[in-house]
Amino acid sequence: MTATASDIPAALHFRFFTFEVLRTRRIGHSFLRVTFGGESLADFRSGGFDQSLSLFLPPADREHTELPSTDADTWFGAWREMPDEERPVMRSYTVREQRRTDAGVDEVDIDFVLHGDSSPASRWAGGAVTGRRIMAIGPAVAQNKSVRFQPPAATDSLLMYADETALPAAAAILERLEAGTPVKAWFEVPHEDDRIDLHTPADLDVTWIVRAADTGRERAERVVEEIRSADLPAGATPYAWLAGEAGTIRAVRRHLVQERSVDRRAVRFTGYWRLGASEEQLLAEAYAGQAASEDPTAEL
Ligand SMILES: Cc1cc2nc3c(=O)[nH]c(=O)nc-3n(C[C@H](O)[C@H](O)[C@H](O)COP(=O)(O)OP(=O)(O)OC[C@H]3O[C@@H](n4cnc5c(N)ncnc54)[C@H](O)[C@@H]3O)c2cc1C
Repeated sequence: MTATASDIPAALHFRFFTFEVLRTRRIGHSFLRVTFGGESLADFRSGGFDQSLSLFLPPADREHTELPSTDADTWFGAWREMPDEERPVMRSYTVREQRRTDAGVDEVDIDFVLHGDSSPASRWAGGAVTGRRIMAIGPAVAQNKSVRFQPPAATDSLLMYADETALPAAAAILERLEAGTPVKAWFEVPHEDDRIDLHTPADLDVTWIVRAADTGRERAERVVEEIRSADLPAGATPYAWLAGEAGTIRAVRRHLVQERSVDRRAVRFTGYWRLGASEEQLLAEAYAGQAASEDPTAEL
Protein backbone atom coordinates (compact mmCIF):
# COMPACT_ATOMS: atom_id res chain seq x y z
CA MET A 1 0.00 0.00 0.00
CA THR A 2 1.25 3.48 -0.77
CA ALA A 3 1.28 5.93 2.14
CA THR A 4 -0.82 9.02 1.52
CA ALA A 5 -0.47 12.55 2.94
CA SER A 6 -3.11 11.83 5.56
CA ASP A 7 -1.17 8.78 6.86
CA ILE A 8 1.80 10.91 7.89
CA PRO A 9 1.57 13.26 10.90
CA ALA A 10 1.37 16.79 9.47
CA ALA A 11 4.39 18.08 11.39
CA LEU A 12 6.57 15.56 9.56
CA HIS A 13 5.50 16.90 6.17
CA PHE A 14 7.51 20.09 6.55
CA ARG A 15 10.82 21.36 7.89
CA PHE A 16 13.10 24.36 7.58
CA PHE A 17 15.53 24.66 4.69
CA THR A 18 18.23 27.21 3.89
CA PHE A 19 17.82 28.49 0.33
CA GLU A 20 20.80 30.21 -1.28
CA VAL A 21 20.32 32.27 -4.44
CA LEU A 22 22.29 30.69 -7.29
CA ARG A 23 21.03 32.87 -10.14
CA THR A 24 18.08 34.91 -11.40
CA ARG A 25 16.50 35.18 -14.83
CA ARG A 26 13.72 37.37 -16.20
CA ILE A 27 11.15 35.03 -17.81
CA GLY A 28 8.39 37.50 -18.63
CA HIS A 29 7.47 41.14 -18.23
CA SER A 30 6.35 40.55 -14.64
CA PHE A 31 8.22 37.36 -13.72
CA LEU A 32 11.62 36.81 -12.22
CA ARG A 33 12.80 33.21 -11.82
CA VAL A 34 15.06 32.79 -8.80
CA THR A 35 17.01 29.54 -8.71
CA PHE A 36 18.03 28.42 -5.24
CA GLY A 37 20.54 25.83 -4.07
CA GLY A 38 22.11 24.83 -0.78
CA GLU A 39 23.09 21.66 1.01
CA SER A 40 19.79 21.26 2.86
CA LEU A 41 17.95 20.91 -0.48
CA ALA A 42 19.16 17.30 -0.63
CA ASP A 43 16.27 16.60 1.80
CA PHE A 44 13.72 18.78 0.01
CA ARG A 45 10.89 16.70 -1.50
CA SER A 46 8.55 18.66 -3.75
CA GLY A 47 5.33 16.86 -4.53
CA GLY A 48 5.13 18.78 -7.83
CA PHE A 49 1.85 20.17 -9.19
CA ASP A 50 1.00 23.29 -7.11
CA GLN A 51 3.42 22.51 -4.29
CA SER A 52 3.73 25.61 -2.12
CA LEU A 53 6.11 26.61 0.62
CA SER A 54 6.65 29.51 3.04
CA LEU A 55 9.63 31.79 2.54
CA PHE A 56 11.14 33.95 5.28
CA LEU A 57 12.66 37.07 3.76
CA PRO A 58 15.08 39.35 5.61
CA PRO A 59 14.26 42.96 6.54
CA ALA A 60 15.31 45.48 3.88
CA ASP A 61 18.61 46.34 5.61
CA ARG A 62 19.77 42.70 6.03
CA GLU A 63 21.37 40.42 3.46
CA HIS A 64 20.42 37.03 4.89
CA THR A 65 17.50 35.64 6.87
CA GLU A 66 18.18 34.74 10.46
CA LEU A 67 15.61 33.04 12.69
CA PRO A 68 16.03 32.56 16.44
CA SER A 69 14.70 29.00 16.20
CA THR A 70 13.98 26.46 13.47
CA ASP A 71 12.68 23.90 15.95
CA ALA A 72 9.22 22.63 14.96
CA ASP A 73 7.78 23.34 18.41
CA THR A 74 9.31 26.73 19.18
CA TRP A 75 10.03 28.59 15.93
CA PHE A 76 6.64 30.23 15.63
CA GLY A 77 6.60 31.82 19.08
CA ALA A 78 10.23 32.90 18.72
CA TRP A 79 9.56 34.42 15.29
CA ARG A 80 6.44 36.27 16.48
CA GLU A 81 8.33 37.72 19.46
CA MET A 82 11.09 39.25 17.32
CA PRO A 83 11.10 43.08 17.16
CA ASP A 84 9.16 44.25 14.08
CA GLU A 85 12.24 45.73 12.42
CA GLU A 86 14.15 42.45 12.72
CA ARG A 87 11.41 39.89 12.04
CA PRO A 88 11.73 38.16 8.65
CA VAL A 89 8.61 38.45 6.51
CA MET A 90 6.81 35.16 5.82
CA ARG A 91 5.33 34.74 2.32
CA SER A 92 3.79 31.84 0.37
CA TYR A 93 5.27 30.80 -2.98
CA THR A 94 5.19 27.86 -5.39
CA VAL A 95 7.92 25.40 -6.22
CA ARG A 96 8.02 25.87 -9.98
CA GLU A 97 10.54 23.06 -10.33
CA GLN A 98 12.90 20.97 -8.24
CA ARG A 99 15.73 19.09 -9.97
CA ARG A 100 19.14 17.54 -9.44
CA THR A 101 21.56 18.70 -12.12
CA ASP A 102 23.95 16.40 -13.98
CA ALA A 103 26.63 17.73 -11.63
CA GLY A 104 24.58 16.50 -8.64
CA VAL A 105 23.47 19.95 -7.48
CA ASP A 106 19.96 20.23 -5.99
CA GLU A 107 18.08 23.25 -7.34
CA VAL A 108 14.65 24.79 -6.78
CA ASP A 109 13.08 27.42 -9.05
CA ILE A 110 10.58 29.95 -7.75
CA ASP A 111 8.91 32.40 -10.15
CA PHE A 112 8.26 35.72 -8.41
CA VAL A 113 5.79 38.27 -9.75
CA LEU A 114 7.45 41.68 -9.49
CA HIS A 115 4.70 44.10 -8.51
CA GLY A 116 6.68 46.99 -7.07
CA ASP A 117 9.22 47.86 -4.41
CA SER A 118 6.79 48.71 -1.64
CA SER A 119 5.86 45.06 -0.97
CA PRO A 120 8.48 43.02 0.90
CA ALA A 121 8.58 39.86 -1.21
CA SER A 122 8.42 41.65 -4.54
CA ARG A 123 11.16 44.03 -3.38
CA TRP A 124 13.34 41.20 -2.11
CA ALA A 125 13.06 39.26 -5.36
CA GLY A 126 13.80 42.35 -7.45
CA GLY A 127 17.06 42.82 -5.53
CA ALA A 128 18.04 39.14 -5.23
CA VAL A 129 21.72 38.49 -5.96
CA THR A 130 23.81 35.31 -5.96
CA GLY A 131 24.81 34.18 -2.50
CA ARG A 132 21.88 35.68 -0.56
CA ARG A 133 20.39 33.19 1.90
CA ILE A 134 16.80 32.95 3.00
CA MET A 135 14.91 30.39 5.07
CA ALA A 136 11.93 28.33 3.95
CA ILE A 137 9.48 25.91 5.46
CA GLY A 138 9.03 23.34 2.75
CA PRO A 139 8.11 19.73 2.08
CA ALA A 140 10.14 16.89 3.58
CA VAL A 141 7.85 14.30 1.97
CA ALA A 142 6.44 14.46 -1.55
CA GLN A 143 2.90 13.57 -0.47
CA ASN A 144 2.12 16.58 1.68
CA LYS A 145 -0.78 18.87 2.35
CA SER A 146 0.62 21.83 0.44
CA VAL A 147 -0.10 20.07 -2.84
CA ARG A 148 -3.67 21.24 -3.28
CA PHE A 149 -4.27 19.90 -6.78
CA GLN A 150 -6.06 16.65 -5.90
CA PRO A 151 -8.56 15.70 -8.64
CA PRO A 152 -10.90 12.85 -7.73
CA ALA A 153 -10.24 9.56 -9.53
CA ALA A 154 -13.34 9.94 -11.73
CA THR A 155 -12.22 13.30 -13.17
CA ASP A 156 -12.55 13.33 -16.95
CA SER A 157 -11.62 16.95 -17.74
CA LEU A 158 -10.02 19.94 -16.11
CA LEU A 159 -10.99 23.58 -15.80
CA MET A 160 -8.26 26.00 -14.70
CA TYR A 161 -8.14 29.67 -13.86
CA ALA A 162 -4.91 31.33 -12.69
CA ASP A 163 -3.70 34.87 -12.47
CA GLU A 164 0.02 35.68 -12.67
CA THR A 165 0.73 34.61 -9.08
CA ALA A 166 -0.72 31.16 -9.76
CA LEU A 167 0.69 30.77 -13.28
CA PRO A 168 3.84 29.04 -11.94
CA ALA A 169 1.60 26.49 -10.21
CA ALA A 170 -0.62 26.09 -13.27
CA ALA A 171 2.41 25.55 -15.53
CA ALA A 172 3.78 22.91 -13.15
CA ILE A 173 0.39 21.15 -13.00
CA LEU A 174 0.06 21.12 -16.78
CA GLU A 175 3.46 19.47 -17.19
CA ARG A 176 2.36 16.53 -15.02
CA LEU A 177 -1.06 15.77 -16.50
CA GLU A 178 -1.81 12.54 -18.30
CA ALA A 179 -1.56 12.64 -22.09
CA GLY A 180 -4.78 13.72 -23.76
CA THR A 181 -6.54 15.06 -20.62
CA PRO A 182 -9.01 17.70 -21.87
CA VAL A 183 -8.14 21.04 -20.24
CA LYS A 184 -9.82 24.40 -20.67
CA ALA A 185 -7.75 27.11 -19.01
CA TRP A 186 -8.01 30.86 -18.53
CA PHE A 187 -4.79 32.56 -17.53
CA GLU A 188 -4.89 36.22 -16.59
CA VAL A 189 -1.70 38.27 -16.74
CA PRO A 190 -0.83 41.97 -16.46
CA HIS A 191 1.16 42.18 -19.71
CA GLU A 192 1.26 40.53 -23.14
CA ASP A 193 4.83 39.42 -22.54
CA ASP A 194 3.71 37.39 -19.53
CA ARG A 195 2.11 34.79 -21.83
CA ILE A 196 4.76 32.20 -21.14
CA ASP A 197 5.30 29.00 -23.13
CA LEU A 198 3.40 26.09 -21.60
CA HIS A 199 4.45 22.48 -22.00
CA THR A 200 1.92 19.73 -21.45
CA PRO A 201 0.97 16.30 -22.75
CA ALA A 202 -2.66 17.27 -22.05
CA ASP A 203 -5.12 18.45 -24.69
CA LEU A 204 -4.93 22.12 -23.66
CA ASP A 205 -7.16 24.93 -24.84
CA VAL A 206 -5.93 28.13 -23.20
CA THR A 207 -7.39 31.62 -23.29
CA TRP A 208 -5.01 34.38 -22.21
CA ILE A 209 -6.63 37.38 -20.56
CA VAL A 210 -4.31 40.38 -20.61
CA ARG A 211 -5.58 42.60 -17.83
CA ALA A 212 -6.82 46.02 -18.82
CA ALA A 213 -8.35 47.32 -15.60
CA ASP A 214 -6.81 46.97 -12.19
CA THR A 215 -9.73 47.63 -9.88
CA GLY A 216 -11.31 44.72 -8.07
CA ARG A 217 -14.84 44.49 -9.44
CA GLU A 218 -13.98 45.22 -13.09
CA ARG A 219 -11.18 42.74 -12.94
CA ALA A 220 -13.33 39.89 -11.63
CA GLU A 221 -16.21 40.71 -14.00
CA ARG A 222 -13.96 40.68 -17.04
CA VAL A 223 -12.66 37.24 -16.16
CA VAL A 224 -16.15 35.83 -15.52
CA GLU A 225 -17.39 37.34 -18.81
CA GLU A 226 -14.59 35.59 -20.66
CA ILE A 227 -15.38 32.26 -19.01
CA ARG A 228 -19.13 32.67 -19.50
CA SER A 229 -18.64 33.05 -23.25
CA ALA A 230 -16.71 29.78 -23.56
CA ASP A 231 -17.78 26.21 -24.22
CA LEU A 232 -16.56 23.87 -21.54
CA PRO A 233 -15.01 20.47 -22.34
CA ALA A 234 -17.62 17.77 -22.93
CA GLY A 235 -16.67 15.66 -19.84
CA ALA A 236 -19.35 14.80 -17.29
CA THR A 237 -17.11 15.02 -14.22
CA PRO A 238 -14.79 18.04 -14.50
CA TYR A 239 -12.41 19.15 -11.75
CA ALA A 240 -11.83 22.88 -11.42
CA TRP A 241 -8.58 24.32 -10.04
CA LEU A 242 -8.76 28.06 -9.39
CA ALA A 243 -6.02 30.20 -7.85
CA GLY A 244 -5.17 33.88 -7.80
CA GLU A 245 -6.64 37.09 -6.41
CA ALA A 246 -9.24 36.15 -3.80
CA GLY A 247 -12.13 38.27 -5.11
CA THR A 248 -11.71 36.97 -8.66
CA ILE A 249 -11.43 33.40 -7.45
CA ARG A 250 -14.71 33.71 -5.56
CA ALA A 251 -16.46 35.16 -8.63
CA VAL A 252 -15.16 32.40 -10.92
CA ARG A 253 -16.14 29.69 -8.45
CA ARG A 254 -19.64 31.16 -8.12
CA HIS A 255 -20.00 31.20 -11.91
CA LEU A 256 -18.86 27.59 -12.33
CA VAL A 257 -21.04 26.23 -9.52
CA GLN A 258 -24.17 28.31 -10.02
CA GLU A 259 -24.25 28.91 -13.78
CA ARG A 260 -22.34 25.91 -15.17
CA SER A 261 -23.47 23.29 -12.63
CA VAL A 262 -19.95 22.19 -11.72
CA ASP A 263 -20.11 20.11 -8.52
CA ARG A 264 -18.87 22.41 -5.75
CA ARG A 265 -16.96 19.50 -4.20
CA ALA A 266 -14.93 19.25 -7.41
CA VAL A 267 -13.76 22.87 -7.24
CA ARG A 268 -10.42 23.59 -5.55
CA PHE A 269 -10.11 27.32 -5.09
CA THR A 270 -7.32 29.13 -3.30
CA GLY A 271 -6.91 32.87 -2.78
CA TYR A 272 -3.19 33.46 -3.36
CA TRP A 273 -3.48 37.12 -2.39
CA ARG A 274 -6.15 39.79 -1.99
CA LEU A 275 -6.27 43.25 -3.51
CA GLY A 276 -5.40 45.79 -0.82
CA ALA A 277 -4.27 43.26 1.82
CA SER A 278 -0.75 42.11 2.65
CA GLU A 279 -0.12 38.50 3.61
CA GLU A 280 0.23 39.63 7.28
CA GLN A 281 -3.32 40.94 7.14
CA LEU A 282 -4.59 37.69 5.62
CA LEU A 283 -2.77 35.71 8.30
CA ALA A 284 -4.17 37.92 11.04
CA GLU A 285 -7.67 37.25 9.71
CA ALA A 286 -6.96 33.53 9.60
CA TYR A 287 -5.75 33.54 13.21
CA ALA A 288 -8.87 35.41 14.20
CA GLY A 289 -10.92 32.67 12.58
CA GLN A 290 -12.38 35.03 9.99
CA ALA A 291 -10.91 33.49 6.88
CA ALA A 292 -13.02 30.89 5.10
CA SER A 293 -11.81 27.90 3.14
CA GLU A 294 -9.78 30.03 0.78
CA ASP A 295 -7.41 30.91 3.66
CA PRO A 296 -4.16 30.97 1.68
CA THR A 297 -1.92 29.54 4.36
CA ALA A 298 -4.25 27.19 6.19
CA GLU A 299 -2.42 24.10 4.99
CA LEU A 300 1.16 25.24 5.37
C1 LIG B 1 -0.15 28.85 -1.99
C2 LIG B 1 0.38 30.14 -2.61
C3 LIG B 1 1.31 30.09 -3.64
C4 LIG B 1 1.78 31.27 -4.22
N1 LIG B 1 2.72 31.20 -5.23
C5 LIG B 1 3.21 32.34 -5.78
C6 LIG B 1 4.22 32.30 -6.81
O1 LIG B 1 4.73 31.22 -7.19
N2 LIG B 1 4.63 33.48 -7.33
C7 LIG B 1 4.13 34.68 -6.91
O2 LIG B 1 4.58 35.72 -7.41
N3 LIG B 1 3.19 34.75 -5.93
C8 LIG B 1 2.74 33.62 -5.36
N4 LIG B 1 1.79 33.68 -4.36
C9 LIG B 1 1.24 34.99 -4.02
C10 LIG B 1 2.13 35.80 -3.08
O3 LIG B 1 2.28 35.08 -1.85
C11 LIG B 1 1.43 37.15 -2.79
O4 LIG B 1 1.36 37.89 -3.97
C12 LIG B 1 2.12 37.95 -1.71
O5 LIG B 1 1.20 38.89 -1.22
C13 LIG B 1 3.37 38.67 -2.19
O6 LIG B 1 3.98 39.30 -1.08
P1 LIG B 1 4.49 40.81 -1.13
O7 LIG B 1 5.35 40.99 0.08
O8 LIG B 1 5.09 41.08 -2.47
O9 LIG B 1 3.16 41.68 -1.00
P2 LIG B 1 2.28 41.93 0.34
O10 LIG B 1 3.09 42.69 1.34
O11 LIG B 1 1.71 40.63 0.80
O12 LIG B 1 1.12 42.83 -0.22
C14 LIG B 1 1.29 44.26 -0.34
C15 LIG B 1 0.25 44.81 -1.31
O13 LIG B 1 0.50 44.27 -2.60
C16 LIG B 1 -0.67 43.64 -3.11
N5 LIG B 1 -0.22 42.47 -3.88
C17 LIG B 1 0.22 41.27 -3.42
N6 LIG B 1 0.58 40.49 -4.46
C18 LIG B 1 0.36 41.22 -5.57
C19 LIG B 1 0.55 40.96 -6.96
N7 LIG B 1 1.06 39.81 -7.42
N8 LIG B 1 0.24 41.95 -7.84
C20 LIG B 1 -0.24 43.14 -7.42
N9 LIG B 1 -0.45 43.44 -6.10
C21 LIG B 1 -0.14 42.49 -5.22
C22 LIG B 1 -1.51 43.29 -1.88
O14 LIG B 1 -2.88 43.26 -2.19
C23 LIG B 1 -1.18 44.42 -0.93
O15 LIG B 1 -2.00 45.52 -1.20
C24 LIG B 1 1.33 32.52 -3.76
C25 LIG B 1 0.41 32.57 -2.70
C26 LIG B 1 -0.07 31.39 -2.13
C27 LIG B 1 -1.05 31.46 -0.99
